[in-house]
Amino acid sequence: MQIAERTVASFHYTLTSPEGQVIDSSRGREPLPYLHGVGQIVPGLEKAMAGRVVGDSFQVVVPASEGYGEHNPEMLQAVPRSAFPADAELAPGMQFEAQGPMGPITVVVAAVEADTVTIDANHPLAGMPLHFDIEIVEVREASVEEVLHGHVHGPGGHHH
Ligand code: ZN
Repeated sequence: MQIAERTVASFHYTLTSPEGQVIDSSRGREPLPYLHGVGQIVPGLEKAMAGRVVGDSFQVVVPASEGYGEHNPEMLQAVPRSAFPADAELAPGMQFEAQGPMGPITVVVAAVEADTVTIDANHPLAGMPLHFDIEIVEVREASVEEVLHGHVHGPGGHHH
């Protein structure tokens, strides 16, 4: 069976930066299941998955525009240092949750000055080409319920 609309595929992945640093990997864990065609994984990777079968291994470089998006400078924002707890030790690279217009978002501290802190609401991987090493472990037909819900049920997916 090939990966296509209305199939659930489980795969192992290793994600590395352009410098070869491992950012995330499913190795040593269960493979990641996803419902194809609904945007559960980044668009460039989903595109590369179409037509693959169990046992396929491949590498793909997904440009930022088809990954977590380009880095948008408008999502950098200077906020007063006083908006943070006085005892918070702030340093560039720190991540924390903030309330965004559509719910909680992860923001990264970009710079710390005496009176202001610059925060970056871009995805931490925005602007980065993503190097994926993929192995397809399982491909099966999605159930009607999964297609209706737009996500995977069972091991590695939703339980409800
Ligand atoms: Zn569901």
